[in-house]
Amino acid sequence: MGRSVVRGAVLPAFNASVELGEVEVDAPGPSEVRVRTAATGICHSDAHAQTGGIPGIEVPMVLGHEAAGVVIEVGSAVTTVKPGDHVVIGPAQSCGTCAWCSQGLPQHCSNLGRVRAAGEPPRLTVNGQPATQFVGVGSFAEEMVVHVNSVAVVPEKMPLDKAALLGCAVITGLGAVRHSAAVRFGDTVAVVGCGGVGLSAVQGAVLAGASRIIAVDRMPEKLEVARKLGATDTIDAGATDPVAAVKELTGGVDHAIEAVGIPATIAQAFAMLRTRGTATVVGLARPGDTVSLPTMDLLSEKRLQGSRLGGTRARVDIPLYAEMYLNGRLDLDVLQGATVDLAGLPAALDGLDHSPAARTVVVY
Ligand SMILES: [Zn+2]
Ligand SMILES: [Zn+2]
Repeated sequence: MGRSVVRGAVLPAFNASVELGEVEVDAPGPSEVRVRTAATGICHSDAHAQTGGIPGIEVPMVLGHEAAGVVIEVGSAVTTVKPGDHVVIGPAQSCGTCAWCSQGLPQHCSNLGRVRAAGEPPRLTVNGQPATQFVGVGSFAEEMVVHVNSVAVVPEKMPLDKAALLGCAVITGLGAVRHSAAVRFGDTVAVVGCGGVGLSAVQGAVLAGASRIIAVDRMPEKLEVARKLGATDTIDAGATDPVAAVKELTGGVDHAIEAVGIPATIAQAFAMLRTRGTATVVGLARPGDTVSLPTMDLLSEKRLQGSRLGGTRARVDIPLYAEMYLNGRLDLDVLQGATVDLAGLPAALDGLDHSPAARTVVVY
């Protein structure tokens, strides 16, 4: 098929708005696939990248990393997917064979395939200049060329606007509860921050059989969604001290899932634990941020741990979650709070911090 020219939203410089325009997409290399983008979620990590808050990224860049679409062309060495396959594309790439993948820890894969080898032509070109793809995806465009390690096949009857949410928010939040925290039946869980990731953690806690699920956020609209998804209690952190409120409700929780990524909320997540509780930080922190904690709390054997992409095994977990949506066990309809088209994407990205929607999805 050769190169194609499609419409997309390009970040020309850090701290600028994305601009709609043409993106030239190269033909897939041997281990790559070309996907027609059907839908992409707008994630806080995209806004993070927009402001230059992620190390090692370069502009011009096509953002977007939580997507679903249909494979339209595969490279000569690709055997695991074929044209016509419906796929989810996201940041949880993994090669399956490196030392980390071989230990069942694909979130630390050392062979991601997010960029082509040096000397090869760029996957994307904008105005004659090479452009980069955020985390090797770049779903804010009508087509993507990505490494085959970036895609997971989902059933054809899975709606692609819902499937997109599996690419980042769901695997990260649900995965943090399931794989990283390993919440057990009867545990008490607090979720700090109820965006797409936090709300997915609420659902994960429901599925794990948590006895009490306390959702914490500053936006009443998001707390309302958390209740719909199964939170037993909600705390408006704009009006109440969340640590005192969680302690009053439970005496301290077994698990706190932190889905904001700022030092103040990480410290709160640790402070609201009971003896031997675990705080799992899934929120994306900023370079240089540090958090200080009361050392006496260590006598209570509390733990603070990170979670990268929820420890997700994309090619196992994403088809599973799609099946669970189709069986009515996972609610993605409530999670998809708003829908825009490509023309509405720049404003939706700029307004992300103030949007009451759980997740805004761009449908092409
Ligand atoms: Zn994301
Ligand atoms: Zn690997």
